[in-house]
Amino acid sequence: MSNIFTSVFVDVIALSGSALAQTNREKEFVIWLAQRDQNIVGIGTVGFSLDELPWDPDDFSSNQQFLLRVVDGALARLGWSKLSYEPNLDYIKSTLERFGRMVSAFRPEDVDATHYEDWSLVEEGDDWPTIPPGYPQCGKHGIYLTCHGCVICNSK
Ligand SMILES: [Zn+2]
Repeated sequence: MSNIFTSVFVDVIALSGSALAQTNREKEFVIWLAQRDQNIVGIGTVGFSLDELPWDPDDFSSNQQFLLRVVDGALARLGWSKLSYEPNLDYIKSTLERFGRMVSAFRPEDVDATHYEDWSLVEEGDDWPTIPPGYPQCGKHGIYLTCHGCVICNSK
């Protein structure tokens, strides 16, 4: 994915995911994806593999179904009115569909739970934990905030 492409992908996934997440783990999936914030972590540095996402081995299929709903929501332009630009759906559609196919093909045995343990670890005295306590959302965009803030506000 190109850099602009990745940024649009993260925006539309974060908008859809923030609208759909209900359980804490679902919110954490959205936070994890929104952390792929090129404004903060650097352009062109946000590649990832699916096993790094915060899968719960005991809740695998519900995690997987959630991600597929998020992809469907993004394809249905869920939350796009909150963006200051209009993503080109034709342009992003095949990437979202490919991501959906990868999620569908992902298997419980591919989960490596140590990724979640490392990611969610709160160190003592850490004022900006990876998962902000209480799952705050951006007042303007409704996006779950990450330790970097709101991925859409950051792109301003
Ligand atoms: Zn925002």
